[in-house]
Amino acid sequence: MSAEHWAEGVDQLLAEIGPVTGASRVWVFQLMEVQSNAVVQDYVFEWAPSEHYRQLNQNRFRFFSSTLEDPVYRRLVEERQAGVSHDFCIPLMPQGPLRSDLENQAIQSTATVPLFFNGHWWGTLGIDDCERPVSWRGPGLDLLEAVGQLIAAALYRDQLNHRSRQIELFHTLANCGVWEISLCNGRLWCSQSLKTLLGYPEAYSRVSLRRMLARLHPEDRAELWARLRALWRIAESTQFRLDGRLRLANRSWIWHELIGEIQCNEVGQPVVVAGLVLDISRRKQDEEQALAASQLDALTGALNRRGMAQHLETIGPATAPRHLILLDIDHFKQVNDTHGHLVGDTLLRMMVERLRHELRPGDGLVRLGGEEFAVLTSGMQDDQALALAERLRRCIADEPFVVQMSEDEPPLKVMMSVSLGVAGQGDEASQATNQLMAQADQALYAAKHAGRNCVLFYHEAIESRAVSLDSE
Ligand code: GH3
Ligand code: MG
Ligand code: MG
Repeated sequence: MSAEHWAEGVDQLLAEIGPVTGASRVWVFQLMEVQSNAVVQDYVFEWAPSEHYRQLNQNRFRFFSSTLEDPVYRRLVEERQAGVSHDFCIPLMPQGPLRSDLENQAIQSTATVPLFFNGHWWGTLGIDDCERPVSWRGPGLDLLEAVGQLIAAALYRDQLNHRSRQIELFHTLANCGVWEISLCNGRLWCSQSLKTLLGYPEAYSRVSLRRMLARLHPEDRAELWARLRALWRIAESTQFRLDGRLRLANRSWIWHELIGEIQCNEVGQPVVVAGLVLDISRRKQDEEQALAASQLDALTGALNRRGMAQHLETIGPATAPRHLILLDIDHFKQVNDTHGHLVGDTLLRMMVERLRHELRPGDGLVRLGGEEFAVLTSGMQDDQALALAERLRRCIADEPFVVQMSEDEPPLKVMMSVSLGVAGQGDEASQATNQLMAQADQALYAAKHAGRNCVLFYHEAIESRAVSLDSE
């Protein structure tokens, strides 16, 4: 049992019992296959006190097949399959193929014990005496049976080692941990890899469920409860998958996928929830990048309309006054006509740079389309929003844009201006963004009519003025 590898342990064991029994051979056959009229075995272990008795290396014992035609031998095999040990004193045996076979090997007496592994006949442990026609019944056979148990235990241990190594390897490769919660006593079991992930020492015997749950981000924990409650109620599916953030040993929150399954007992009562924890931080990162990219305008890097909706969602329901500034470049068509579309594109990019410089990180800058932009601010008074719009106007109009399209050509200097319309939500949190947009649009329209390169704030007066201008 202390050997490095189970096979070495078996060799040592045979070498221990061989001399004390005074046997000529101690051997192990491993069963390969039971066919309808033959058994195929291989001679896998042997101890012998001298070369003279050795048989392991003889070719006739390599994957040898024994016929089951002899009813005596067939019964012997059936009894071995049922776990029965045997002993024979050859001179006392009835004549027949089995006796002849043993005599051919110069055996005087023999004893065998079937080895069982996972409930099946795995092989046979045997002892041969080529000198003494004695009975092995009693202490001899008892010893052999004890050795048989030890060999089976070694096989189990080897299998366990193998599996646990395999599983740990799987955990490492798949970057995952395994957990199981007993619903009877609320006890948690988690795999070594999961413990390591969470920073528990290797020998730590019991991670409590409460502590484990504390490692799941509060928002995700709430979602987990909701999922479990739904599973309970609907009782249609027993599985769930949930993306959640786990606080790891280094205190960082890392995205993991929790995959769980509720297991029920024979009468259908849930008894265990068990599953996996998989590191999905890479996937999440990619998803977040793709999502962020899908919310940005490709030319200027400002938010697009989808990004604006997301921005509105993140800043949540209006608790502070909100303002919307709409901005449209003046005579941009002309700029394109004069300098070409490529210069126009570069100017759009440069303009966004300048605008961004004037904004706070939380202000959303949106390219609504073409050369129309919107700025969403919150927490400003009307005069502050108006002042911001004025700063935006001036940062465009006050200095020419210097565009260098190629090294061969002299840089272009382009003067540009923008018209801006501002609308405020005030304290009316219920006011819809659509309405705000319509009002800012009217203010912008009025600013264009007022001669461009100016800022107008939406109010009732503008509304009427815009209408009157419209009808001119
Ligand atoms: P106004 O002062 O009335 O706004 O005059 P405008 O010429 O800017 O008129 P309008 O807003 O109707 O025209 C938009 C022009 O913007 C039309 C198009 O040539 C130009 N434009 C729109 N999108 C792009 C773009 O992505 N790149 C370039 N280079 N030009 C664009
Ligand atoms: Mg326009
Ligand atoms: Mg324009």
